[in-house]
Amino acid sequence: MNDDQERAILAVQFRGLDGMCVGCRAWWSRLVPYPCWQVEWATSRQARTIMARYLGVRA
Ligand SMILES: [Zn+2]
Repeated sequence: MNDDQERAILAVQFRGLDGMCVGCRAWWSRLVPYPCWQVEWATSRQARTIMARYLGVRA
């Protein structure tokens, strides 16, 4: 896993007008309330990467 994959996930997973995740519906025909688990995963991964960089550790 790297930054690009997280960014790619966040680029397609976004909130639709009805509050459901657009990415999950488009990719898997799944109705999931936004934020879905993938968004949670990617944002937590990003937060950890940023923190690791801040501390000078290679994530
Ligand atoms: Zn989603």
